[in-house]
Amino acid sequence: MPGLEDLYREIILDHYRNPRNRGALETPPAVSADGHNPLCGDEITLFVLVEDDIVADIKSSGQGCSISQSSASMMTQAVRGKSVAEAEALIHHFKHMMSIEDHHHDEPAEAPALGDLEALQGVVKFPVRIKCAVLAWNTLSQALESA
Ligand code: ZN
Repeated sequence: MPGLEDLYREIILDHYRNPRNRGALETPPAVSADGHNPLCGDEITLFVLVEDDIVADIKSSGQGCSISQSSASMMTQAVRGKSVAEAEALIHHFKHMMSIEDHHHDEPAEAPALGDLEALQGVVKFPVRIKCAVLAWNTLSQALESA
């Protein structure tokens, strides 16, 4: 029987090998943001199209380790079609899972579903990789601020 860690590894490798929402969007109307994690050499460029306060489309390109690139793939899948407020709630929730953000602000009664993103929770055990996992999310914050 494969254990949970094997399942998580499979999910991460699947997103790394077959990244979802890969590519670029025309700017404008989309906005773009670049993220860079010099510790690992990870690079992510995000393209986000916000329409009527909804993340109508999102694409990512870049290169780096499997954690950074699979996190970007899962992130685009998780926020596409969501409202900007829901996307921001997911950013907070993910960073909380990565133990880098305290939850002093008001918590929603129900935490947003993380889906495949739960596969990344094992990264917490490897502090040096946390920056890889949150790179896409910090880049999304930047993009949403400029949208
Ligand atoms: Zn990395």
